[in-house]
Amino acid sequence: MALPQVVIVGRPNVGKSSLVNRIVGRREAVVESHPGVTRDRKRVEAEWCGVSFDVIDTGGWLSHGDELDDKVSAQASKALDDADVVLFVVDAMTGLTAEDGEAADLVRKAQRPTLLVVNKVDDNQHEHSIWDFLQLGLGDPFAVSALHGRATGDLLDAVVDLLPPVVETEDEGDGITGVAIVGRPNVGKSTLFNQLIGDERSIIHDMPGTTRDAIDTVIETDEGPLRFIDTAGMRRRARTERGAEQHSVIRALDALDRADIALLVIDSTIGASHQDQRLAERISAAGCPSVVVLNKWDLVSVDNRPSVLASVGEKLAFLGTAPVIKISAMSGMGVHKILPAIFESTEAYHQRVPTGSLNRAIRDLQAAHPAPGARIRYAVQGAIDPPTFTLFASARLPATYLRYVERFLREKFDFGSTPMKIRVRVG
Ligand code: GDP
Ligand code: GDP
Repeated sequence: MALPQVVIVGRPNVGKSSLVNRIVGRREAVVESHPGVTRDRKRVEAEWCGVSFDVIDTGGWLSHGDELDDKVSAQASKALDDADVVLFVVDAMTGLTAEDGEAADLVRKAQRPTLLVVNKVDDNQHEHSIWDFLQLGLGDPFAVSALHGRATGDLLDAVVDLLPPVVETEDEGDGITGVAIVGRPNVGKSTLFNQLIGDERSIIHDMPGTTRDAIDTVIETDEGPLRFIDTAGMRRRARTERGAEQHSVIRALDALDRADIALLVIDSTIGASHQDQRLAERISAAGCPSVVVLNKWDLVSVDNRPSVLASVGEKLAFLGTAPVIKISAMSGMGVHKILPAIFESTEAYHQRVPTGSLNRAIRDLQAAHPAPGARIRYAVQGAIDPPTFTLFASARLPATYLRYVERFLREKFDFGSTPMKIRVRVG
């Protein structure tokens, strides 16, 4: 998973490499005492208060003589584009220079959260000189000494505050995708389950689930293992047992809580019933992606098919863009489409878009269709499971515009049918 990017910018000799060394705590970036020495882009991993991030020293890019040549500034813009936080470094000993101004222009254009770092404030004596730098229009200065480590901890606290929130995934612990097969009694859940595990000629393990006497079944597939949740009653079930151990509602809810994806099985000869709607609501509340399986399709006459599909689409509307797969669990018809749909949805559910790519997409999206009376300045994906985006905007965005943003991101980053959340922060 890509780490957030902290990009260090400033004219030569202000102490960027020294600051990187200080942040990383190792002598990793090379420090040159002569200006104008071209250095490659340096990327090192750092950590502060348990938060990991990459530090990118734009080093030599701004050190081609006095002018920013095109190639150099193109490189710097690219790094700025990908930045989650920019540290703009200036030198308290030399004071504000024209070159600082040029570099600051570049930084302001990038519109990334930026901290103004006034370096070489080795002691209180130099502190008064920092206020000159307010002219750069990059906010209040942080006075630090990279060399002596003065106030660099405060700076890092501020950096970490600005980084997108740490993504936490809660899993069963084994990282295996959990599938809940839910549906009313008699819709064909056991038949489907046995088809799925038979289909894959899979290696099957039984694992204890979390509920008392719940047994999960883990199968190996070409695309990785899958855990079917609470399958005690489903596997190779004898006909006579049916009815005795129907999933109680509680069990179904427990299964949904633990699931990464739900298969909602519907009996197509009956269509989506009230109970199916209730289950769909529960799935939607659990926030996990879902696949709707229309079983017993073999029993639906050709004439009735369009109306069955239409009624299911209408009654389960709040599952949104969930794929609908028509199958006959009995004959196996259509069953092969289920596993690919599961993997596609769960992959999208866990996907994280790097901040740089996200903001390029947001820029394109606004170029094609600006929001009425508002601008999105910046966006981050704060969480996965489900993918959750925060848009930092100049004013409120209308619901229609948010739907447009969602469609755009869905398409651009292949989120498929997975649930997504979009939040707006105005300010
Ligand atoms: P860069 O070109 O921006 O990467 O700057 P360097 O990190 O190579 O530093 C340039 C010079 O400034 C070196 O001689 C450093 O030792 C010196 N320097 C860096 N940070 C400080 C500081 O906090 N205080 C003082 N006095 N000198 C510093
Ligand atoms: P569960 O209670 O949801 O687990 O349902 P079962 O898997 O026990 O199936 C209920 C009944 O529907 C059984 O008699 C199955 O043989 C039958 N059945 C299941 N799937 C199909 C199907 O695709 N087509 C037909 N015609 N019957 C099915």
